[in-house]
Amino acid sequence: MLKLVTKNIGIENSHTLAVAKANGVYSRVEKALAMAPEAIVEDVIKSNLRGLGGAGFPAGRKWSFLPKDSPKPRYLVVNGDEGEPGTVKDKYIMIHDPHLLIEGIIITCFAIRSHKAFIYIRGEYDLPIERVEGAIAEAKAAGILGERVMGRDFALDIVVHRGAGAYICGEETSLLESLEGKRGWPRLKPPFPAVEGYQRCPTVVNNIETLSYVPFVIEMGGQAFADLGSERNGGLRIYSVSGRVNKPGVYELPMGTPLRQIIYDHAGGIAGGRQLKAVIPGGSSAPILTAAEIDVPMDFDSLAKIGSMLGSAGIVVFDETVSIPAALLVLARFYAHESCGQCTPCREGTAWMTKIIQRILDGDGRMGDADNLIRIARNVLGNTICPLGDAAALPVISWVTKFRPEFEEWIKRGRPVSQAPIPVTHIGERTAVAV
Ligand code: SF4
Repeated sequence: MLKLVTKNIGIENSHTLAVAKANGVYSRVEKALAMAPEAIVEDVIKSNLRGLGGAGFPAGRKWSFLPKDSPKPRYLVVNGDEGEPGTVKDKYIMIHDPHLLIEGIIITCFAIRSHKAFIYIRGEYDLPIERVEGAIAEAKAAGILGERVMGRDFALDIVVHRGAGAYICGEETSLLESLEGKRGWPRLKPPFPAVEGYQRCPTVVNNIETLSYVPFVIEMGGQAFADLGSERNGGLRIYSVSGRVNKPGVYELPMGTPLRQIIYDHAGGIAGGRQLKAVIPGGSSAPILTAAEIDVPMDFDSLAKIGSMLGSAGIVVFDETVSIPAALLVLARFYAHESCGQCTPCREGTAWMTKIIQRILDGDGRMGDADNLIRIARNVLGNTICPLGDAAALPVISWVTKFRPEFEEWIKRGRPVSQAPIPVTHIGERTAVAV
């Protein structure tokens, strides 16, 4: 089976320059530096490479939005914050093949005429940070980075910035604020980062995985890369599979691979011979799918058509023993905790939703609480500065709508007799916020 970004993973010392170079890393730089920057952008547009951090915006089109006449410097900011629950792909790349990421950064910076890139890495990621910093030092010592990249008339410096542990800093504008040394509060858009990004200069923000595919677009050409995936979703991507499967892990597969195939053929099916109950297909903010909905191609457009999202491709599998209200409380508490508090609907709504789900689980639910949850979530949806509000609201709407009888059974009986005991350690203490 074809592998691209994960091709070298499993080779001993794949993170070192010598091993990376021996296995093809940096072999595409020379070809790219001989191309016109605009030709690289066109090839990436043709490749249908999407933004793989979660939003799915076409990478080449994002690059093409940089103003052509601005006298300001241009920056590339690499998003390695990876805070979406259920997602571990960027960590994997940084640990095992950091030089591939650097190769992608070199080509991208050349294409967008940037001479400085920042890699913003999640604060908890000690080993990924160590590996990326080590790879940058090796590349500088070898003349791959610096005043003359691989001996060519092109200068590039890369700086690693460690985050401080806030989920919201995975959102591109709060990441930029944090990078500038300020509190990680999302900015109102427009202006978009392409026009006013880092230090109010034109900036491209791309995810680690997205940039790691760029060398392969150069190697095989945009059309050939596009042909590996599905319509308008080029190439391959990494699916992180966790939860109740026999073989949780990361799987690099073509865009559009059916979800059923990923769960049963690659991740080994449901653990313990149990029945599948539900799946989160794209990180915790993606609306949930029932067991009857898994014959869907895993690409941005196919999941949007059935009301969900591919997002970060973090697939979380629930078997029949999982309590949907208890699991939803875990997510609700997470989003309430991570809300930055700028927008009233997000700040108040996430706390209210948490409080209601908690009281349902405590056996104090009220008739009408399922409707209350959906009503509050709909008032958050689309009414906030950044997508965290939507990320908190969408699971509530989809989980309560698709598993409404389970919520109502909790409300009527306190705790359903048919339900396995709730893992109390996953529920935590009551929230103190009043509704
Ligand atoms: Fe902050 Fe939430 Fe508003 Fe985003 S939606 S800016 S996280 S309050």
